Amino acid sequence: MFRKIICLLTALVLAAGMACTAAAEGRREGLQFAITAADALWENAADGEAAAAEARKSGLASPVTEEELVAAGARIDREDGIIFMIRDFGVPRMARTAEEAVETAWSLVKTLDGNEEGELELVNRLNIGKTGVWFFHEVRGDEPVYGRMLKIFFDEEGRVNTVVSSLGFPEETDESLGAEEDPLGQRVLDAETPEIPDFSKMLPGEWTFTAEITPWESRDITVPVMQDPDTGLWYLGDPVRKIVLGDFKKMVLEGQPDCLLTSPENNGWDPEDALIFHRILQCRDFFSRKGWDGPDGLGTPVLLLNNLCLLNGEAMDNACYIGLLQEKWQTFAYSRGAGFGRCLDILAHEYTHAITETSIGVGLYKDDYGAINEAISDIIGNLCEMMLGETKDTQWNLGENLGSAFRSMADPHAREQPEYVWDEFYAPKALYPNDANDRGGVHANSSILNYTASRLCLDAGMAPEEALDFWWTVDLAMGSRTDYYQMAELMEWALRETGLEKYREAVRSMVGKTRMTLRARPDTVPVGQMLVELNLPDTEAMKDHGWTLMGIQLQTGEALSFLFNLLSGPPAGEGDTDFIGLIEQIAEGEAGAATWGSPEQAELQEQFRKVFLTHTTWQAAEGEPLAMIVQRGLPTLYLLMNLDLSTTEIRNIVLLAGSEWLDIEGSLGSLGEETEMNGEKAGEIVEKMISLGMSLLLPEDAERQSLPTAGLDRVELSAVPEAEAPAA
Ligand SMILES: [Zn+2]
Repeated sequence: MFRKIICLLTALVLAAGMACTAAAEGRREGLQFAITAADALWENAADGEAAAAEARKSGLASPVTEEELVAAGARIDREDGIIFMIRDFGVPRMARTAEEAVETAWSLVKTLDGNEEGELELVNRLNIGKTGVWFFHEVRGDEPVYGRMLKIFFDEEGRVNTVVSSLGFPEETDESLGAEEDPLGQRVLDAETPEIPDFSKMLPGEWTFTAEITPWESRDITVPVMQDPDTGLWYLGDPVRKIVLGDFKKMVLEGQPDCLLTSPENNGWDPEDALIFHRILQCRDFFSRKGWDGPDGLGTPVLLLNNLCLLNGEAMDNACYIGLLQEKWQTFAYSRGAGFGRCLDILAHEYTHAITETSIGVGLYKDDYGAINEAISDIIGNLCEMMLGETKDTQWNLGENLGSAFRSMADPHAREQPEYVWDEFYAPKALYPNDANDRGGVHANSSILNYTASRLCLDAGMAPEEALDFWWTVDLAMGSRTDYYQMAELMEWALRETGLEKYREAVRSMVGKTRMTLRARPDTVPVGQMLVELNLPDTEAMKDHGWTLMGIQLQTGEALSFLFNLLSGPPAGEGDTDFIGLIEQIAEGEAGAATWGSPEQAELQEQFRKVFLTHTTWQAAEGEPLAMIVQRGLPTLYLLMNLDLSTTEIRNIVLLAGSEWLDIEGSLGSLGEETEMNGEKAGEIVEKMISLGMSLLLPEDAERQSLPTAGLDRVELSAVPEAEAPAA
């Protein structure tokens, strides 16, 4: 088991056109998408293993060389010298059966710089319209070799025409996936799940309730329920589509597999649970119309868990795709109280993660790879919501029915996301991917593809049906190693595959605009921007993987007085009075003042955005400074934070005031419940903030600003994290 729970939101606590019911006129036929599981691929062979071994031998004995490919007119794409795609294959090779696919795979391993001594596992066969795709993963024993996979595409006649590969890239490890850094994820993977009910004998029923669709609108909705004829108990579930609801907290934290939601009388269901259930049913039906049966396309039963929470039992305020649990349940979870049920785009986002995972297998959920995974979920999730007429939004916002969107795909800056590589808000790849650094900005840099997708529809006129076919094709064709550089080529391929070449210029224009094919840190930055760098001192405390640099820019003159009022504000006991507490409250809606997703909280967030711009960054490479782009000329507060990797709670925070780093925790007391405002210290900090703000208002000449490191060496972690007690 190798998975990280994939969430809607960054776990970082401080992170802050078409009314697409689509005209029926000129409607395209559209593509169908399908999958065949591995165990059904060898129907013509008595013994799949022996047949595969035979096919491997003959493939290795008849290699397809690069010279042959070039002579046959193939187009070969490389990144860092390694082949990631071959188009217009040209060399006559067939892949009608699993045997032929395996033979072709091994005939290519050498040319693809793969491991001829290694093992390739045939994972599944996908179908994109009339194109078939054989998906292989390199394995060692039963373990996948991270990031190394191969897709072989064939046409209606069975001729190989395209190859997507990462077999030649260096092996990856994902060190953040262990129990130590992700104890909750480990508990989820180890949890005993409920038995799959005998859906065939369940008696169907229904339950009608009034759902709050937006903060301003309600609607009566009927969901299926089912009754066990033996016990008479009712379940919130659908025996036909094989979906049933359970309790995350009970299953994971309390170790009770008997966690399905039941009712003796088919009443008393929670309307929020029922609404989320309804949304998942909408997703299921939306995708199954395109040929995809259930989240993984294979009709696997779905376990939908409420009460998503942290190890301490607190609600996580999130929704996530957990993945296949115990080989039997495709599992999703959500917290109650957040109102996610209002947002079909959010539930369809999670649902799409299951499709992506089926397509790329054991993926690398970090950096560009994770950002693309997130973007595909945002794009298809948003298309689903728009095409089913469940939003009035035309600007590709995500979660707008909560009252305030998380992400604005058409205007990434509106929600602190970059429009292009190394734009303001761009997140560098992470040296140690973990929840504290959003695994290298998977929820930040997703905007680069989101922006592309939304502008293709809004500006170039791509219709929602076309967009769905296009992005789903991209999703099923990409690999675990597809980064933005490769995505630029993959989109070109997908345009031809889906017959949407009329958008070629529009796609190229967005590739240029988003600088998708660039990776290096820029030498110059646009007028009005500044590159800020911070060298972390080489001390023991700094070797921790949880350090994040935040730059909070004050956009208006009100900001400083806002801060002053804040820090000299109400005495302890009357709510959050410390700066961080307030940001947290605004960003996450915690601490009572405003419920997450409520109109009050949305209003607070909007206010905050008008006053502050929030930037975050972290270490991208050994010995390299932390770097981020900020706006020139705005007063900026720089905070260096240390986050506990297992809880993502802030362990330590220092503030750059003038040229000195101040230990806020030391000055203001702990950030926990016993926080006490020390008026004298607060005054001192405000004074330094103001002087910092003033100094930054002065004109700047340098393109780069290097932050001092002096004083950082006295920063120590406030507490060594205690090992989690092993589960009983
Ligand atoms: Zn996601």
